[in-house]
Amino acid sequence: PPAGEMLGVGELVAGYGAEPVLHGISLQVRRGEAVALLGANGAGKSTLMKVLSGLHRPLDGGGIHLEGQDLSNAGSEAIVARGLVLVPEGRQVFAELSVLDNIRLGAFLQPKNREARVQEMLQRFPRLRERLHQRAGLLSGGEQQMLAIARALMSRPRILLLDEPSLGLAPRIIAELFGALERLRDEGMTLLLVDQMAGLALAVADRAYVMENGHIVAQGTSAEIAADAALAKAYLGGH
Ligand code: ATP
Repeated sequence: PPAGEMLGVGELVAGYGAEPVLHGISLQVRRGEAVALLGANGAGKSTLMKVLSGLHRPLDGGGIHLEGQDLSNAGSEAIVARGLVLVPEGRQVFAELSVLDNIRLGAFLQPKNREARVQEMLQRFPRLRERLHQRAGLLSGGEQQMLAIARALMSRPRILLLDEPSLGLAPRIIAELFGALERLRDEGMTLLLVDQMAGLALAVADRAYVMENGHIVAQGTSAEIAADAALAKAYLGGH
């Protein structure tokens, strides 16, 4: 792989049935880099995140490499074991389980030092400590998002993918959440972040790609993307 590459995606094609939704997506995330993926509803961002995580099969052709290893045909559990972990859209915590058990479940492939790492997560997300023994379904949306991130971190990711973490959350908790993402970035975690809050995503990210109808139509540093008037009008308006 190119020097410093964490995730390399080349000419990836995927869809549902015969009609492709991703028409040859190429992108790269370097080790320690935070990358934002922007685009309107239906551009194919969630589909890409699912394909990268092994939750949806790509069509023939195209490749996905994680630190030089081919993941194109790997299953989702093998992909998590290799270190690519998705925090899915809609959070998907186990509503009937306690906060603590949700966090512990993230360690199922990496059980070593589990309880010490739970404590690290509670330091990172103090709101979760206050609700440790409550059912996860009783948490607010923002707390559930923090729980989903904590659970993902328990599997010791090399790269963390986040699909719309701010979706449906109040502004104050979004700020707290993005603060946690900035901290992760500053600690050197590699991030690939999809979010409709383009301004916030660009503030966390070093670089960004813009998707439209299953194609990458622009890429650049976050400053370049933020300064592009046409892109700003299409994607950054209101945020
Ligand atoms: P959003 O932010 O609304 O989730 P997105 O950029 O993530 O948008 P996708 O959810 O990847 O876009 O959807 C891309 C296209 O694929 C859309 O046209 C959508 O209708 C279609 N699509 C998504 N999921 C399925 C599915 N399970 N079956 C069939 N078509 C789907």
